[in-house]
Amino acid sequence: MQRETMVRTVRERQEPWDIVVIGGGATGAGVAVDAAARGLSVALLEAHDFGKGTSSRSTKLVHGGVRYLEQGNISLVMSALKERGLMRQNAPHLVHDLAFVVPNYSWWEAPFYGIGLKMYDLLAGKYGFGASKLLSKEETLRRVPALEPNELRGGVVYYDGQFDDARLLIHLMMTAADHGATVLNYCPATGLTLDADGYVNGVTACDVETGEALLLKARMVVNATGIFTDSVRHMADPKAEDIVVTSQGIHLVFDRSFLRSDTALMVPRTSDGRILFVIPWHGHAVAGTTDTPVDAPSLEPRPLEEEIDFILETASRFFVRPPTRKDVLAVYAGLRPLVKGEGKTSALSRDHLIHVDNSGLLTITGGKWTTYRHMAEDAVDHAITLGKLKDTPCPTKDLKIHGYTQDFAALGSLDVYGSDAEAIRTLAKDPALAVQLHPDLPYIAAEVVWAARAEMARTVEDALARHTRALFLNANAAMAMAEPVARLLAAELGRDEAWIAAQVEEFRALAEQYRVV
Ligand SMILES: Cc1cc2nc3c(=O)[nH]c(=O)nc-3n(C[C@H](O)[C@H](O)[C@H](O)COP(=O)(O)OP(=O)(O)OC[C@H]3O[C@@H](n4cnc5c(N)ncnc54)[C@H](O)[C@@H]3O)c2cc1C
Repeated sequence: MQRETMVRTVRERQEPWDIVVIGGGATGAGVAVDAAARGLSVALLEAHDFGKGTSSRSTKLVHGGVRYLEQGNISLVMSALKERGLMRQNAPHLVHDLAFVVPNYSWWEAPFYGIGLKMYDLLAGKYGFGASKLLSKEETLRRVPALEPNELRGGVVYYDGQFDDARLLIHLMMTAADHGATVLNYCPATGLTLDADGYVNGVTACDVETGEALLLKARMVVNATGIFTDSVRHMADPKAEDIVVTSQGIHLVFDRSFLRSDTALMVPRTSDGRILFVIPWHGHAVAGTTDTPVDAPSLEPRPLEEEIDFILETASRFFVRPPTRKDVLAVYAGLRPLVKGEGKTSALSRDHLIHVDNSGLLTITGGKWTTYRHMAEDAVDHAITLGKLKDTPCPTKDLKIHGYTQDFAALGSLDVYGSDAEAIRTLAKDPALAVQLHPDLPYIAAEVVWAARAEMARTVEDALARHTRALFLNANAAMAMAEPVARLLAAELGRDEAWIAAQVEEFRALAEQYRVV
């Protein structure tokens, strides 16, 4: 993917696009992949880097949602479990199964969670990831040796999926581009154009890098802007009633030694009635999450002190070595776009919503990462009907995601790139690009060059937050990597010393928010 080519294509196109997608998170990327794979002409606009919003800030689970089972939402769980299976099938380099242990400290927990998780297995049907089973105390400690043994009675093990969210997002953009979509980052939609009857027939946008104003004529516009859904709807109708509420969740990242295991821990009922996960991820342990209602959407939400304390306090009850603030290598926050309803945000449905405004603007929102494909299919089916577009069946159930390979185990720390790993290895034949950028993280210079050349990374933040996950794993290490990364990008993008200095300063200021002091 090359940004210059994408901008040129948008600028030069006179014909209306079949679909213009606003928003480059999981939802928008899914729509672009689906529409392009059906042979429709599609352009996607993202205001920042692809995945800058919620889609790089998840718990990294590909799951049916054990919690929704407890809420009795069987159809949501079944549909998500099926999508979980399809995601692993179509992106095996990025989605894999993970064992979770639910520790039991009370007599009733083994039968209660044991039965619930058997139901979870049952609902997965042919898309199952492995059978749950009851564990003795010894088996539980063998699987998660870091667990507090005092009063532990045993546990239940069950299986779900795990992934790298930002990496899958980048590979979805590449999949869309492979099928002919034009995807453009750093290009916010600034307005919607209406025809004489008041129907949306195009999008105005601005190339942030040059200030150039762009106009994209469109047969259908799909609003996939997550927590920003209502602000885009207001571009066509300032009086439109809001349909989305926002809730924040944070995660703390620790050294892997806190978990000392390839098995994740699931605490089914925290003091606020939620689930807490501690999962192994990229050689670290990630603990989360919280559910705090938030008034205003933000691309860079800030974790609250009470959220940090809550996770530390809850985790402390389950580990022999209680984690403290000093042990936190990174903290990150994300905002859920939830479809408005009654009651607490934690009780709001995770089902998705398709909404059509009087202007014909089609909005797709809610849902979750795991269900992005199904959401996209639904949105494009609606767009075809409303926009009178060529009707072709959805092909994405079996569509391989960019990077697809079954041989990812041999790729070492480059496994998440799948079939692209070979190209990065070739770059790394140059000794200068084989250099590891920080001793605590596996990333090499060739990955940054690849991000700029093939994945449209434009800034130090893009390279360190999403194209590699350095910022999410270890904020201090990411800060130390900023200057060499800025130099690598400057060489690729033709930038000068002033750009390097500004990028390093900007990134370090941002990374401060990912540290816990
Ligand atoms: C803490 C937390 C944990 C989660 N964990 C999981 C999990 O483990 N598994 C799971 O399945 N789901 C999980 N989710 C849910 C999942 O992450 C979200 O449902 C999903 O990422 C939402 O994607 P989206 O594309 O709708 O929104 P986003 O990713 O926010 O994308 C919207 C994009 O629109 C862009 N945008 C906004 N305005 C404009 C404009 N005017 N022009 C152009 N672009 C614009 C934004 O920059 C943004 O990139 C979690 C969510 C949170 C908050």
